[in-house]
Amino acid sequence: MEMDKNYERKCYELAYLIFPDVDETVDDLEIKYPERNTLKENAIVTRIAPSPTGFMHTGSLYQAMVHKKLASQTNGVYYLRVEDTDQKRYVEGSIKMYTDELNYFGLNADEGVVGENKEIGYYGPYIQSKRKDIYRVCAKHLVEKGLAYPCFCTPEMIDKTRQMQEANKIVPGYYGVYAKCRNISIDESIERVKNGEKFILRFRSNGSHLRKISFVDAARGKIEMAENDQDVVILKSDGLPTYHFAHVCDDHFMRTTHVVRGEEWLPSTPIHLDLFNAMEFKAPQYVHTPLIMIKDGNSKRKLSKRKDKESAVSFFIKSGYPAEGVNEYLMTILNSDYEMWKSQNKDKNFMDFEFKLNKMSSAGSLLDMPKLNDLCKEEIAKMNSQEVLDRVLKWSKEYSKDFYDIISKDLDYSKKVFALERDNVQKIRKDIYKWEDVEDTFRYFFDEIYDKDLKENGYIITSISEEKPSITKDIIKKSLDEYINVYNENNTKDEWFDNMKATAEKLGFCINMKEYKANPENYIGSIADFSSIVRMAVTNKKNTPDIYSIMQLLGKDKVINRMKDTVSKI
Ligand code: GLU
Repeated sequence: MEMDKNYERKCYELAYLIFPDVDETVDDLEIKYPERNTLKENAIVTRIAPSPTGFMHTGSLYQAMVHKKLASQTNGVYYLRVEDTDQKRYVEGSIKMYTDELNYFGLNADEGVVGENKEIGYYGPYIQSKRKDIYRVCAKHLVEKGLAYPCFCTPEMIDKTRQMQEANKIVPGYYGVYAKCRNISIDESIERVKNGEKFILRFRSNGSHLRKISFVDAARGKIEMAENDQDVVILKSDGLPTYHFAHVCDDHFMRTTHVVRGEEWLPSTPIHLDLFNAMEFKAPQYVHTPLIMIKDGNSKRKLSKRKDKESAVSFFIKSGYPAEGVNEYLMTILNSDYEMWKSQNKDKNFMDFEFKLNKMSSAGSLLDMPKLNDLCKEEIAKMNSQEVLDRVLKWSKEYSKDFYDIISKDLDYSKKVFALERDNVQKIRKDIYKWEDVEDTFRYFFDEIYDKDLKENGYIITSISEEKPSITKDIIKKSLDEYINVYNENNTKDEWFDNMKATAEKLGFCINMKEYKANPENYIGSIADFSSIVRMAVTNKKNTPDIYSIMQLLGKDKVINRMKDTVSKI
């Protein structure tokens, strides 16, 4: 639309009145933040844009994986921009928390904010509150072009209009005839700004919700929506931009090629396209990621920050989920063909897989915890005892200091504990999926924990008598007394078992399971019951790995003492 010269001059006057100190122009910014010409033609520049609210949502981790994959497989750039324009929601320490959490999963950005007070790259500052000057240059440009105007309406006035629109079933919002300040004369705008009246800055949209626009979402394909006609706020009363305006200025001047963001932003995309158009910037490629869902009974629902601990990335870190397992899981929900690829490329890492945007599901992705746990179990099963020890030390130092102190006392011994049914075996015992469970799984190996357990929970060996009345407390004591006399720690496993059988038989236990099952009434119990007595006396647990190896590791003195102690205390 050709502007009349007089109007054009007044727009410049208004722009100058509002931004008297802004000398730079959009063209200057184009030079200052040039296209990323050093990158190859199809390189993807993508970004994660957290708001520092002290919480990283699991959905953001899923997106971080998309960013990492897209950038790394195209030799592009993945940067982190902090979106702190809503200062009321700012939580101290959020940036460090966010970058630490990304680091834990190896999904950290390679440019932008990489830690507290740490930025890398030429397109900064990467924190929006430090980019005020840039937004002001862009906003001034729009005022000059007659595409932005000051709005003097109070929140109460806006509310009133909205109520009227709702009552009359009119599309709500600040647009067309309902946009009061859009429709005042430019002279009046100038006058009111001169008079020091308070205002915010709004975009002047030339769209109509009666028209349709379409755009291509790289994951969802062509999308048709009503054109934007809302005169959205671009600069708020605190001088900071709204999300809409910051997104357009930042993603343009940081030269983002792909905006990967949650699907909650899909409805606002027409606003953004309208703004890109007004600024004469090329719009990026949009990718709207699906919501993360969780099972609730028989149905699925959105992962809720309030109800589900799994909605926080910190939950996975504090519980000690290995990053490898979580990353594997993320890949399985990101691309449906990942699992097939993985089964054919067992030795490869997810970073070797070619992630495809068009293979992303747009329906909500289910956070299937049992599956995630299984993948984590598999990853931990790949580690040898030294790796497990190192990881457990690292995790417990941060999240379970008492356990850390206990396992650090004798690192050699702790390593041997973790080597059980792990190092040099045909079949690895897959019983842990997160480091938090290690303490409970191996508690009987560490006296401090074992003793505390007995004090707090008593001797679980007594439960044998409750389940099988024929095995009385006296029988338990007699069995242990007898076994104490014959236990020989120098026995091989076969000798040890023969020895155990001989003792059991002598006491009236049946050593042939088939025979026992046929005639249980003829015996006190079976060899399995006798082993349970020994197992529980030594570990105070019902299920453990192979008891022979456990006894070897605990050493004769401890084994005998624990059995003696049981005899005297139950
Ligand atoms: N700061 C926005 C949010 O946290 C980011 C959206 C985007 O990636 O553009 O939702």
